[in-house]
Amino acid sequence: MKIDVLTLFPAMFAGPLDESIIMRARKSGLLELKIHQLRDWTHDKHKTVDDHPFGGGPGMLLKPQPIFEAVESLKREGTKVILLSPSGRKFDQKIAQELAQEKDLLLVTGHYEGFDERIREALADDELSIGDYVLTNGALPAMVVIDAVARLLPGVLGDDESSRDESFSHGLLEYPQWTRPADFRGMKVPEVLLNGNHAEIEKWRREQAKLKTKEQRPDLLK
Ligand code: SAM
Repeated sequence: MKIDVLTLFPAMFAGPLDESIIMRARKSGLLELKIHQLRDWTHDKHKTVDDHPFGGGPGMLLKPQPIFEAVESLKREGTKVILLSPSGRKFDQKIAQELAQEKDLLLVTGHYEGFDERIREALADDELSIGDYVLTNGALPAMVVIDAVARLLPGVLGDDESSRDESFSHGLLEYPQWTRPADFRGMKVPEVLLNGNHAEIEKWRREQAKLKTKEQRPDLLK
């Protein structure tokens, strides 16, 4: 998959996407990631990307011209253009799974007060929010989407890191897990996990996943 990101803060992306599983996916070519500076599509000497909102009000809006030109030059046949915005549909594992089927994504991140409305109307195929809170800019939301989607691409996770049974993959939270030692300061691992009966362990884990979801996230069971 190819993911292009349009941002005013390319340096924010260095670090989180240069480590661990995502870096391995990039190195192996499973994920091609390109971070683009929006100011590269401005034409004035101050590289202006924002302007005051019509009708007044606080803050500045990202103006249409640089984003239209950037999207027009980066978009290819089949590219899905996604705006990161607090007003978007709320990003979750199901949407991550949907996006992992796409060939190319172009993530358009905002700053200041957000985007001129024509950007949303004319350019966006989708608009995603990472939750009901407001961040200073769209770099962190874009990184959240990239991380969640990239780890679902075939071949990115090894067997040890499989996404098969993890939280949200079956509409449930993941079952609780323990590692060695079996007794730590008197806190003991459930006996069923120590007996080597895999069918029994599977059944127990399914029940535990349901119980945990009921207790901690009953909204998922609705
Ligand atoms: N005035 C906007 C509003 O009230 O909805 C908030 C703009 S926010 C300060 C600046 C940018 O950060 C947004 O354009 C968006 O790209 C990004 N952003 C902030 N919070 C976000 C969230 N929860 N999900 C996705 N993007 C977000």
